[in-house]
Amino acid sequence: MAESTEQRTPVPLDLMGELRRTHTCGQLRAEHAGRRALVMGWVHRRRDLGGVIFLHLRDRDGVTQVVFHEDVAAGVHARAEMLRLEYVVAVEGEVARRTPETVNASIPTGEVEVVAERVWILNESRVPPFPLDEFAEIAEDVRLKYRFVDLRRPQMQRNIILRANVSFAVREFLYSRGFLEIETPFMTRSTPEGARDFLVPSRITPGSFYALPQSPQIFKQLLMVSGYEKYFQIVRCFRDEDLRADRQYEFTQIDLEMSFPQQEHVFEVIEPMLRRAFEVAGFSIETPFRRLTYEQAMRSYGIDKPDLRIPPFHCVEDLFAGAGLSAEGLPLAAIHIPNTGSPSRKERDEMKAFGQERGLRVYDDVKRLDRDFPEQMAKVRERSGAGENDLLLLAGWPGEKKGHRPEETVLLACGQLRLYAAQKYKDRHKLFDAKTFRFLWVVDFPMFEWDEEEKRWNAAHHPFTSVHDEDLDKLTSDPARCRAKSYDIVLNGVELGSGSIRIHRRDVQAKVFSALGLSDEEARKKFGFLLDALEYGAPPHGGIALGLDRLVMILAGESSIRDVIPFPKTARGTDLMCDAPSAVPEKALRELGIMLKP
Ligand code: ASP
Repeated sequence: MAESTEQRTPVPLDLMGELRRTHTCGQLRAEHAGRRALVMGWVHRRRDLGGVIFLHLRDRDGVTQVVFHEDVAAGVHARAEMLRLEYVVAVEGEVARRTPETVNASIPTGEVEVVAERVWILNESRVPPFPLDEFAEIAEDVRLKYRFVDLRRPQMQRNIILRANVSFAVREFLYSRGFLEIETPFMTRSTPEGARDFLVPSRITPGSFYALPQSPQIFKQLLMVSGYEKYFQIVRCFRDEDLRADRQYEFTQIDLEMSFPQQEHVFEVIEPMLRRAFEVAGFSIETPFRRLTYEQAMRSYGIDKPDLRIPPFHCVEDLFAGAGLSAEGLPLAAIHIPNTGSPSRKERDEMKAFGQERGLRVYDDVKRLDRDFPEQMAKVRERSGAGENDLLLLAGWPGEKKGHRPEETVLLACGQLRLYAAQKYKDRHKLFDAKTFRFLWVVDFPMFEWDEEEKRWNAAHHPFTSVHDEDLDKLTSDPARCRAKSYDIVLNGVELGSGSIRIHRRDVQAKVFSALGLSDEEARKKFGFLLDALEYGAPPHGGIALGLDRLVMILAGESSIRDVIPFPKTARGTDLMCDAPSAVPEKALRELGIMLKP
């Protein structure tokens, strides 16, 4: 690494003293010519032409060229010879217009330079572990180990500044709508968002643990019971889940809750809030967003977070009744991807195999389908709009019905096949454009999901979500068909957030707990305080939480949330810079009453 190969003569450093900068490195323009300037920053680039040294001096605001002439100020020039990349300096001199042939149109300050008369070397730097310019390809583990250097790179500065500006815009917007930012505790009891908790051992009650919140869910509901009406928080949440490019143990949510809302009221806050956030990043988006029920999304896309940039599939089992392409009562999907050209034998085989692994039978021989079912196929083309140059496949489920919502099992598999095919031809149809933003609300999710391992129903969102008024009586009689007042906001196939109208009545909450197989006693033990609160005049309330990391990732055009989080963990959950997690001294464990197994 840098340390071992480095040869440096120590440079005598100057004191900051009373120095004050007059301009930032992004500020100077032609109109400043003739004025004096004192700029401070890091040596970004350095060119030594003997009698003349050019520096690019960088600070958060930009880059300014500084020139040291031996014949103008010899001592200063000699000091400049000692400068290396990333040294921290202050330079004072006169702002001069550059000659027309030396103007640098690629930077905003490119018409001028500072002619150095004095220089202060405020600090030196080791040779940086990697180049700081725009296009360097650097291994992520090195970037994360030297994050303090990595965060200086222009791309990272843009991302982190964008993040700060988006957060600010969101805050400003929510305040303008009457929301209050109210803090909720980090050391609390487990909140049920379906993941494992991070635990914090208590020293004064050995054997007891706090849990870091998976979300402020219960607290924000309690704030509604307490009459605050509109709450928000840009808040860290903690979930001990396996990490991926779009997941971290700690992540940030834009979390909000309202009293007396209809679902549409929540949407009416989120849509303009997102419009603001996109504006900050230079994009204009259209509102209102499309709405689809969960059932519609499943029947058109086979997924609850459809990417609308790719066309839907069409259920055509009605056209092929009795033909045996799919088992009786199960969907048959016509999957259509535009502009693929005709698929090769090999591609068709791959798609078939992909479908088969998921239980589907894929009918990829369109010529044969046309011959055997000419009228039906004409209608399939009419419904899907599939043309000559497009991919068209039928996918059905010949086998036995599977699961508590068997049609859903089939639709999910069709949805995966649709995405697989869309990915395969992404270079031809070019529909996955990162700057096309297709938003969607998915509403009316099922209330419960079957947990095959535990053989019981789980809350699909969380156990405080309201049941649809008309489905209240299905809570125990037909949980599979019970719909929730819950909603997700989806952008280009990414779930940006989810929320729901909550249960505000004690009797309904008890029913839901019982449908979830929680005994009265267990429910009391886990959420007794919430149940109590519901007995003291809880108003109807609801809300939502949006992932800030994902949102900024999309706005920044990045593909990993690690690139928009200043100090993230690796995919293995480690912090390479601080070397966390780490062992702790024996004494600390003893105080906590913890004994490690050998
Ligand atoms: N607490 C929920 C979550 O983190 C969001 C909500 O229902 O408001 O997903």
